[in-house]
Amino acid sequence: MPRKFYITTMGCQMNEYDSDYLSQLLLQDRFEASRRPEDADLIMINTCTVRRKAEQKAYSLLGRMVSIKRKRPDTIIGLVGCIAQQEGAQLLERFPGLDFVLGTREIGRIGEVLDRVEGTGERIAATDLNKTSLPSGHLPGYFAGKVKGYLSIMEGCDNFCSYCIVPYVRGREVSRPPKEILSEAKSLVSQGVKEITLLGQNVNSYRPEEDDSFGFPSLLRELEEVDGLRRIRFTTSHPKDLSDDLIRCFRELRKLCPHIHLPVQSGSNRVLKLMNRGYTREKYAELIQRLRDARPDIAVTSDIIVGFPGESDEDFHLTLDLIRKIQFDSIYSFKYSDRKGTPAASLGHKVSEEIKAKRLSTLQALQKSITLSKNKLLEGKEVEVLVEGPSKRGRQLTGRTDTNKVVNFNHHTGSLGELVKVKIKRSFANSLRGEISSTRA
Ligand code: SF4
Repeated sequence: MPRKFYITTMGCQMNEYDSDYLSQLLLQDRFEASRRPEDADLIMINTCTVRRKAEQKAYSLLGRMVSIKRKRPDTIIGLVGCIAQQEGAQLLERFPGLDFVLGTREIGRIGEVLDRVEGTGERIAATDLNKTSLPSGHLPGYFAGKVKGYLSIMEGCDNFCSYCIVPYVRGREVSRPPKEILSEAKSLVSQGVKEITLLGQNVNSYRPEEDDSFGFPSLLRELEEVDGLRRIRFTTSHPKDLSDDLIRCFRELRKLCPHIHLPVQSGSNRVLKLMNRGYTREKYAELIQRLRDARPDIAVTSDIIVGFPGESDEDFHLTLDLIRKIQFDSIYSFKYSDRKGTPAASLGHKVSEEIKAKRLSTLQALQKSITLSKNKLLEGKEVEVLVEGPSKRGRQLTGRTDTNKVVNFNHHTGSLGELVKVKIKRSFANSLRGEISSTRA
């Protein structure tokens, strides 16, 4: 009888990609996926530690999973991802019900680790971060029926922003060989995927070891030639690595979607320095202007942290001022929280939770008004949408514009993976609503 596995994934798209990879390895190893942890022989939590909240959520979930084991003692429980990498073997002491801990570069060892856990009852922690071989290859048919796919092109980050835990849990930058990435892209397209999002903590610094003249723009140009691929996206970029050549790609490449997610984090040069971000607000604004000159319809989204240690009212107002100047399409905004082992965690002048909450809601209210006014401009316009499937409520179809805006629309025709023209009737903060005006194969 095939055994059942259950994976729950927290955090970023890179974790989703890793969970897909783990699933494929298990499906090739006589496992089948289970929808409920209660029915699974193997339960795994793919964890995130980017903020305190994410960490707390993971531990409470682990507590719940361990309680399942009390009823079904043969269940194997594993923790993978960034908390596994950060805490390692300590987790086995803290959680007696936990059988194994797999770090971010060890997921390829799942088969061997399971054999040892089942064979000897050993409890294992594997967290070697110096591995350079990254997950690759696909289980044939795994992406069948999916319109979109993630494709990891590199792992790790060498930027060491002072608040960020990523370099400590994802390691040094390693770029995958272009050949491997292109063959994976073709495999996705052959299974029906129309849109690929390239993943990396800092994709702009993509530089394969075997050919350091082959940078990220070169990879984009190669992917542009993949037949059947309709849209290319990428995340996440760092402003300091945004090259002239990458800006040129936005003007030249038809399949590269006119959307860039470019985290700015703060509008105060003093805070940007403390964050070790490596650019100023003026430099950031200049980059955005050059992107908009190259591709006037480009959508720009960003990340912002409020309440960084020492952030004054004046610093915060500089952030609000930058938001008004740049007019982002949307922003992911967060309250700063100390991450163990990062330089910022030992900085003084911590901002109170109350002030952080106030600043966050002020910032989100400002951005919401900007997003609404930008989406309103699309009412009455026709946009091209990649059909992704039924909308959340199921009564409509849903998809995204090439600028990454969600569109829900009535449908008489139009099917999964098709690019259709939709006339926008109404706009909201997080989505648009419309009607199909024509379909295009
Ligand atoms: S570039 Fe991003 S992932 Fe890298 S250290 Fe800075 S915030 Fe973290």
